[in-house]
Amino acid sequence: MPERGPRDRSPAELLALDRRHVWHPYGPMPGRDAPLLVESAAGVRLRLAEPVEGRHELVDGMSSWWSAIHGYRHPVLDEAASGQLGRMSHVMFGGLTHEPAVRLAKRLADLAPGDLEHVFLADSGSVSVEVALKMCLQYWRSAGRPEKQRLLTWRGGYHGDTWNPMSVCDPDGGMHDLWSGVLPRQVFADAPPPGFDAEPDPAYVRHLWELIARHAGELAAVIVEPVVQGAGGMRFHSPAYLRVLREACDAHGVLLVLDEIATGFGRTGALFAAEHAGITPDVLCLGKALTGGYLTMAATLCTPRVAEGISRGEVPVLAHGPTFMANPLAAAVADASVGLLLEQDWAGEVKRIESGLRDGLAAAAGRPGVRDVRVLGAIGVVQLDGPVDMAAATRAAVRHGVWLRPFRDMVYTMPPYVTGDEDVARIATAVCAAAEAGAQAGAETGPR
Ligand SMILES: *Cc1c(COP(=O)(O)O)cnc(C)c1O
Repeated sequence: MPERGPRDRSPAELLALDRRHVWHPYGPMPGRDAPLLVESAAGVRLRLAEPVEGRHELVDGMSSWWSAIHGYRHPVLDEAASGQLGRMSHVMFGGLTHEPAVRLAKRLADLAPGDLEHVFLADSGSVSVEVALKMCLQYWRSAGRPEKQRLLTWRGGYHGDTWNPMSVCDPDGGMHDLWSGVLPRQVFADAPPPGFDAEPDPAYVRHLWELIARHAGELAAVIVEPVVQGAGGMRFHSPAYLRVLREACDAHGVLLVLDEIATGFGRTGALFAAEHAGITPDVLCLGKALTGGYLTMAATLCTPRVAEGISRGEVPVLAHGPTFMANPLAAAVADASVGLLLEQDWAGEVKRIESGLRDGLAAAAGRPGVRDVRVLGAIGVVQLDGPVDMAAATRAAVRHGVWLRPFRDMVYTMPPYVTGDEDVARIATAVCAAAEAGAQAGAETGPR
């Protein structure tokens, strides 16, 4: 008997097999909540295999975890992928190179702030953070300072799910308790005071300086997400603190890594969030929107100082090389996606979405159970007083024809930049409805 093709199974059959065999992010096995079965996607819409809450199509308020900035099945990106498919999907990167990787690296080096001109193309955001940390530790080893191997970050961050990135995730929201004794112990500053426009708090500035000064002898690097802390809690902070980190790192001989995997490529209203602060990190991580959400790829960029420092060491090479490093398909799509972004008025689009979200989410402010409503660039957040009832909130959004994935105490959206005004309004309405449903149900069942 030949294997049956993908379309021969009913949605119910697929969901049963999914539950039995397939891990989902942060999920138990077997799965507890049935995921929605997506059949296809185009523009800003996901098409479900069968209607849920009467909806066959959902406007995507998540951009597939903040990556699909141009929406789905964009003709330019489809063409880049199929064109590259006709040449080669992949070749190893050891001893070989190819045009898509070279073009993409040159483009990123040109775009990135300052002299970040050396590019390591990794296969996921977490791996790009691993590479960034390895660069920093190796820089100090090469300089004869192997004791400089710890990292400093501020609380409330997220840098990925592999070991070293996990060690610099928020120690309270992350899974540090589960992994105490296993994760390397890093140095944590308090979370930055909230508010993009807030005046910098002198006490917090002192706190950062003091902590960096005290630990400088053992610190390889400071690593933070600039301006927006994403999966650690969707919090915004003043760019002034990034300037403080830059100055304190320079004064005390510590490298600065900015993780722009979530903020890169326009999401906060600047092409890179570092531009809000006017600083250049020593190492920069990019991912998520890099390929427009088509394929998995991330990049670690560093300055000549870091690269030359590593090269001067006893082991003069960066010992990292994933099998699918610089995958040509992903690189070709990434190059096309960044090109597509730059040839349009992306800043205008992000501003347009920002004002649509501000208008639409204002309705949630002051509602029972709502702690805070905040918008920055194409990011809209409604934070509740307690954990969101995920099932109730998701159902409420779907009823409004919108896909959202709330987490912890947050209902939020990061829509594709191509989302039209009507769809932005619809997303905002759905966020408010999901917040209300998620908060009400939470109040009834108590905290979990
Ligand atoms: C998503 C994310 C990562 C991890 O990227 P993956 O591709 O999921 O491994 C790291 N840092 C930040 C800031 C992120 O948002």
